[in-house]
Amino acid sequence: MDSHDLAANANLTRRDVLTRALPAAAVLGAGLFALPAQAQTPAGRLGLAGRMQAEAYKVGQYTLPKLTYASNALGPHLDARTLEIHHDKHHKAYVDGLNKTIKSIADLRQSADIDPARLAGLERDLSFNAGGHLLHTLYWFTMAPGAGGEPKGALAEALTASFGSFAAFKNYFSKVAAGIKGSGWALLVWEPVGGTLGVCAVNEHDAHLIPGAAVLLPLDVWEHAYYLKYQNVRADYVAAWWNVVNWAAVGQSFEALRDQRAALQKTLGNL
Ligand code: MN
Repeated sequence: MDSHDLAANANLTRRDVLTRALPAAAVLGAGLFALPAQAQTPAGRLGLAGRMQAEAYKVGQYTLPKLTYASNALGPHLDARTLEIHHDKHHKAYVDGLNKTIKSIADLRQSADIDPARLAGLERDLSFNAGGHLLHTLYWFTMAPGAGGEPKGALAEALTASFGSFAAFKNYFSKVAAGIKGSGWALLVWEPVGGTLGVCAVNEHDAHLIPGAAVLLPLDVWEHAYYLKYQNVRADYVAAWWNVVNWAAVGQSFEALRDQRAALQKTLGNL
């Protein structure tokens, strides 16, 4: 695992260990899909979790979320042509692949004799396409025109607590992103068992993810994310991307997850 700054020295309490058994923490991004009650209405105040839930899955199948900004709105940092191809072609392929794979697995379950090789291939497709769809959805929703700068409030404090300072976090995250071999992602994650922030380097869409960790901020470093404008100079793309990070959205997700954990611990403490 290429996780670097998770609190490796966490002395897990009984409550923390108990959280491992809870289904809510059992899947990637669980926190982001656990829609806080107060965010259910009205539509304009859904926040990141609500928007993901509303846009990326509809009535029985996963769906390609619409961009909430024009394809040229993230310029000059990210160019319109790259965004269009990335969203309309690459992301769509993962959505289609995910729905197709789920259907194929359902069909395979009906077979009298399940072929192990076919099953292994489909399980691989499921992980790859689910990671592709969910990470890209978050990628779009955590960028905004005229954004960038620095986070405020609780997230800023948590980043300082985990990394020393925002500048140290930014430098470290950029180094992780630059160092990923081939295609992958750099992720800022919230790990609910330890209640800590961490950065992990993910290969493709799914290798080296931390089980149960919610992705707060993903950076796509596949070449398709930057090659038209930046060619082989990934570091320039990473430096430009910081100018469009929507810290308000990331901070809102962080606070929702932190509050969920606090509420869970309170409940467990009262058992
Ligand atoms: Mn991508």
